[in-house]
Amino acid sequence: MLGDRLGNRFGIHRALVPQNTLPQIAEKLDADLAKHYEHEVHLVVETLNVDSASMHQMTTEVGEDSAGVGARIAHIVADRGKLHNPVTGSGGMLLGRVDWIGDEAQKSFPKLATGDRVATLVSLTLTPLSLSRVAEVRLATHQVDVEGSAVVFSSGMLAPLPDDMPESLSLAAFDVAGAGPQVLRLARPGQSVLILGVGGKSGLLCALAARWAVGAGGTVIGVEPQPDAAAAAESLGLCASVVRADATDAIATREAVLACARQSVVDADGFDLVVSCVNVAGAEPTAILLCRPRGKVYFFSMATSFARAALVAEGISRDVDMVIGNGYCADHAQTTLELIRHAPDLRKLFEARFC
Ligand code: NAP
Repeated sequence: MLGDRLGNRFGIHRALVPQNTLPQIAEKLDADLAKHYEHEVHLVVETLNVDSASMHQMTTEVGEDSAGVGARIAHIVADRGKLHNPVTGSGGMLLGRVDWIGDEAQKSFPKLATGDRVATLVSLTLTPLSLSRVAEVRLATHQVDVEGSAVVFSSGMLAPLPDDMPESLSLAAFDVAGAGPQVLRLARPGQSVLILGVGGKSGLLCALAARWAVGAGGTVIGVEPQPDAAAAAESLGLCASVVRADATDAIATREAVLACARQSVVDADGFDLVVSCVNVAGAEPTAILLCRPRGKVYFFSMATSFARAALVAEGISRDVDMVIGNGYCADHAQTTLELIRHAPDLRKLFEARFC
């Protein structure tokens, strides 16, 4: 019977192994949508946006093979009741249509109606998900068309899809919605900002946010190894330089970046703010080495190791504040859309990449 159970606003009722825990922590979730709880919204799922670190890990494991990645995704979801990559610990988010809204969930999402097309703003690592079919895996954009169903809890977040942007662009932007708005908060007028992985989705949004935040007196530099992605970042004119370097090679990257940085950055022994948006492990030492004493490092990357960051900073006596890239900050989805709306060149680049 519909709505016969209350459930829990954090989704604890869906944790199968172990029970009575938050769904993000659980090894397995119950993704049986025949069960209805009042603290739930049920979605018909159309597209998954796989987190970049997770997609990179899967293609490293099975090769650049869309069928192989599709099979890996189907296997993880069947095994765990959610797309929670066991190696990277990351997930992604999804696009779908609202199929059913419990009474308690309706209080959290008062404007939501059955039939609305929405993107989830909470991770797939905590979203009960079942898939009947993986239809198309687009390796280049990390978007995967599927047939399936999912649950969002009262404590979660959903965003309506804006009508002035293609859906695949909105989905891509929402996936990294926490990045740009938090750089807007962290960077100050006149400061120096370094972005590792500047040619990627979050890297470009962070470069835009940093450019706006530091203003004419500030400086933004990017690091990107892949020539096409570096050239694309350069073409937007947001960075004073885009350095072609491998951010997992701390010594070489430090030299290459300082060689083209302002004298004030060299004198300060690093940047006021370093943002890591790389989708591979091992960029922490570079970020820390290039951050000035008492500067800030913002680790947006899911491939960040807390232990490596803490031990490298301690090991070289670097007194820096390290910020974990919370996927959520107030109004992040709207702020990210606004960033894109006010940057026509970036928008054009994203449309070419994701649409
Ligand atoms: P993306 O579009 O794939 O961008 C990653 C960028 O890093 C690419 O330009 C990539 O270059 C570059 N890169 C790879 N290896 C590098 C290296 N050795 N040195 C320098 N740059 C390198 O990924 P995204 O969607 O922006 O996501 C970036 C990171 O944020 C990922 O780890 C993702 O999992 C994470 N993320 C975090 C949150 C959160 O809530 N904190 C949310 C979503 C995503 P190539 O062109 O060579 O690949």
